[in-house]
Amino acid sequence: MPFIRLPSNQEPLHAPARGPVLLLTCMDLRLMDEIVDFMDSDGLNNRYDHLIFAGASLGALGAPDAKGDYSHWNKTFADHLAVAHRLHGIKDIYVLEHRDCGAYREFLGYEGDFDDYHGDAEELCHRKYTGMLQQFIDDWAKANNTTLRVKAFLMDLRGNVKYLEPQEPASARRSSKPKARAKR
Ligand SMILES: [Zn+2]
Repeated sequence: MPFIRLPSNQEPLHAPARGPVLLLTCMDLRLMDEIVDFMDSDGLNNRYDHLIFAGASLGALGAPDAKGDYSHWNKTFADHLAVAHRLHGIKDIYVLEHRDCGAYREFLGYEGDFDDYHGDAEELCHRKYTGMLQQFIDDWAKANNTTLRVKAFLMDLRGNVKYLEPQEPASARRSSKPKARAKR
């Protein structure tokens, strides 16, 4: 049984995965040990397929806003998703982004370059692409008559992980607003 280190700042807000998981991460060389620690701390030791794309969600989407053409990466991601689903029956997908991501700078230039004093802008940028990937995975699941749960996370350079809880869909926000008064 390996030693399991619980990340100190991790708030356990997400429901634990019950079956095999597909993990998508960036290739960043600084965080490989921390990624394994995080998965161990979530009870997923030896229970996940690990896909690595530079930029995690941004790479898996085929870097849609990049100058170069990486669109074929999206097909590669979909192919791997299909194989993981067929071989291991994955039901949960963990999308693990990280701060100070060189691939975000590489693909997005200035828009993907963040310092330590504007954390919200960095998180918002990662939320944009994890949200787009969630939509892509939802569409893929629908087309393949299955259901997949996507959980997105953002890791800092100490290995602490923040769960990026799903945003309320625009349609739900609209319906929760009080209705306008009827004109008399
Ligand atoms: Zn990265």
